This record gives sequence, C-alpha cells and structure tokens, in this order.
Amino acid sequence: MGPNIICLGELLVEVMRSEKDTPHGMVGASYKGPFPSGAPAIFIDSVTRMSKSFDLSTGFIGVVGNDEFGKVIFNKLKSDGVDISKIRINNSRTTGIAFNQYNSDGTRKFIFAAGAAGQTSPDDIEKEYFSNIKALHIMGSSLSISESSRESCYKAIKIAQSLNPKVIISFDPNLRPEMLDIKTIIEISKPILEGTTILFPSGEEAEMLAGVKGESKACKKLLEEGLKLVVLKQGKDGCTIFTSGLVDGIKVPGFKVEEIDPTGAGDTFDGAFIVGYLAGWDLKRVGMFANAAGALKVQFFGPMPDTSYEEVIELMNNK
Ligand code: ATP
Ligand code: MG
Repeated sequence: MGPNIICLGELLVEVMRSEKDTPHGMVGASYKGPFPSGAPAIFIDSVTRMSKSFDLSTGFIGVVGNDEFGKVIFNKLKSDGVDISKIRINNSRTTGIAFNQYNSDGTRKFIFAAGAAGQTSPDDIEKEYFSNIKALHIMGSSLSISESSRESCYKAIKIAQSLNPKVIISFDPNLRPEMLDIKTIIEISKPILEGTTILFPSGEEAEMLAGVKGESKACKKLLEEGLKLVVLKQGKDGCTIFTSGLVDGIKVPGFKVEEIDPTGAGDTFDGAFIVGYLAGWDLKRVGMFANAAGALKVQFFGPMPDTSYEEVIELMNNK
C-alpha cells in the first residue's frame, strides 16, 4: 500500500558557515554540518512529525549518492517515520550539497553542488506507489534543478489525479527571480498551477506568478484564476489565507520568537498546514498550527528540525 502523502525532488545536505558575514571564499573559516536538507525533504519530514496523531503515512521519491551524506538524509527521514523505499542510490554521483552563508542584513549566499539531487527521473514515479494518495506536494525548486526532476513532478501530478480525483495538490513556488528569469518561472510553473489546490507563496512569489504588484491583490488574482486556496507566507507576521468568499483573506498573526536560523521555515510551515488541512480543522486553526511550526523552526539551527506535534500544539495553546 502506498503512502497517503508524497513529495519528491532534491535531497541535499546543507553545510553552513558557523558565523554570519563569513564569505565562502574566506580560507580556513569554519562550517557546521552536514544537516539533512532539500526543500521537498524538509516538507515531508514536517508532515510526518506533525501527522503522528492522524494516522497518515508519508513517502518520498528522490536520489542520493552512495555516501555518508546520503545516509545522513536517510537516517533523519527514516527515524521520523517517512517511507524511504523510493529513495534511489546513484553510485556514480555524490549526494547533493548546499554550502550556505548568512549575512547580518538577512541575505544568504549558496554554493551548490547538485550531484545526485537532480537525478530524479520519470521512471522513479511508479503508479502503484500512488494507490493510496491523499496529497501530493511540489516544490518550485524541484522544477528548476533539472529537466528530469521537472518531468517527474509533472508525471506525479497526472498519476495522483488519475488515481484520486479529489487529491490535494499543493505547490510552493520557491523560485526566486535571482535564480531564474520570471518568464521561465511562469512557464515551468504553469502545468503545476493548473492542477494546484493549495498554493503556498511568499509575497514576492505571489506577485511574480500573478503578474500584479501588491501581495493581497496578487493572491486574489490567483484565486480568480482557479486556485482553491492561496496561503500567503509573511515571515514573522504569520500568514494570510485567501479562499473564495473571503475577499480580504483570513489574517493569522505569527508567534513572537527569537529567530536563530530561518532556513526551512517555509517548507516546515507548508508541511504543518497540509496536516491541519487534512485533519479537517477550520482554516484559522490550520494557519495557527502552521505558524507555530514555522516559529519553532526559526529557533532551531539547521534546516530540518526535530520539533514534535505536541510542542507545536503547546506553543499554540500558550499564545
Ligand atoms: P523560505 O522559502 O525562506 O523558507 P518562505 O517565504 O517560504 O521562506 P516565511 O514566510 O519566511 O516562508 O516563513 C514561513 C512561516 O514561518 C511564516 O509564515 C511564519 O509562520 C513562520 N516564521 C518565519 N519567520 C518567523 C519569525 N521570525 N518569527 C515567527 N515566525 C516565523
Ligand atoms: Mg519559501
């Protein structure tokens, strides 16, 4: 029996500068890591930790190298309860690596060695694995890392929809104009957007996809174009949930916490949101739950936290 919630795409380890404002070119300065990462992997790990009380199973499709970095990712996903049987080992490439450097002004700089991370191929997307599918999540980064990864995402949506017409397709367009030109972003996102039920953009991503300025305006336009739910992520300010009938959206304020490392907050948020949504909670509660998961993530150093469902609920209840 296949899992209920599936995600696919790049698996990475992240190696981070220990101190801010330390350029990658500074010889001899230290890094911390490896940390298990990759936006789709952060998502599925979040879903898995948050869904412990809901009897939902999760699985991941992707590729790592035959090395210890790959094992770091396997170990984390497996110990949190993700089905890793569809993670393939490629013997001729290393596991993908992202070297990450933060600056005091909030900017960050990556050096990226894709290795096996972009090797997910349409052949990895097997119909039987989707036989029990309730939700499929796509990350924009998996559309840009390679053509075969992109085609895998397109194939996964088609299969999921054919096996369950009510499947929830969620999409986080985590593609930034500095990574790819806007025209290409729109072009590669279009086949995904056409099937998307829930969109998780940042303000900039919503404006880019809608082609209008102003984040609320952009989200409303995306709804008019056929999306069922648009969940606008707003960093420390929380989120606003746009759905038909609620013209101004439901504003859900963020939690006040000290930010230690924002990497992965958006992906963690997406995962928690999908769990609350599948649990059938009202949208305000789903937004609060996802905000609490995001807030706990930014207090944690490293992209993929260990936070439990109970810790997220505790933060929500203590507000
Ligand atoms: P990224 O793609 O860099 O992970 P994002 O734009 O997808 O980021 P953010 O809005 O930065 O997502 O963060 C996701 C969610 O995490 C927010 O909507 C909020 O709920 C929570 N969050 C992020 N930063 C903070 C913070 N400093 N304090 C409290 N909550 C935060
Ligand atoms: Mg994001």
